[in-house]
Amino acid sequence: MANMVFKYSAMNGGKTINILQTAYSYESNGFKVVVIKSKKDTKGKNTIVSRNGMNREVDVLLRETESLLTPKNYKIYYTAKVILVDEVELLNESQIKELWTIAHLINIPVICYGLKSNFKGDIFGEGVSQIFAIADIVEEIGSSSLCLCGKKATFNARKINDKFTDEGEIVVIDGSNDSVEYVPLCSDCYLKYVKISSKESKKLAELVEKIR
Ligand SMILES: [Zn+2]
Repeated sequence: MANMVFKYSAMNGGKTINILQTAYSYESNGFKVVVIKSKKDTKGKNTIVSRNGMNREVDVLLRETESLLTPKNYKIYYTAKVILVDEVELLNESQIKELWTIAHLINIPVICYGLKSNFKGDIFGEGVSQIFAIADIVEEIGSSSLCLCGKKATFNARKINDKFTDEGEIVVIDGSNDSVEYVPLCSDCYLKYVKISSKESKKLAELVEKIR
């Protein structure tokens, strides 16, 4: 049977371009591709858009608690050669379990793309916990996501009005609000700019001071 794959990177890591290229490869060989994204991702509405301007309409724009195991959705994907999921971190636990079941029961490979952590540096949510638990393959996209310092970025820091913050709602789509943007950072820069006053940082700094 087919596998469910989770491909992750930080923001600007080339996930959307990867989806568009994968879709193109299948379709240019005459195979049907189904692209799914959550309706929570308001960017691009019912399309996915890469930073270089390429875009593609999605086949299923999934509502927050909508099941994939409905006659309407089944008719869309049952003849597909592959299912591609964009921004999978926005799906819930049961939607992830449904995708895994589709891969293993009706033999359609499911490739999910997304973030593993949120701007607080925690696991993004229940969908990501679930996909880490059950995906057959988990891999980092050979990341083109670079930190301000030039190292590989693994964190997605949030800036509001040009200031880094680790407070606020988990899902705020960039572009939906002029004052919110996301900046890919490496661990060192995330600690330096975002977590500078965290309790772990303070405790360790005190310890260094005491032992010196
Ligand atoms: Zn850095």
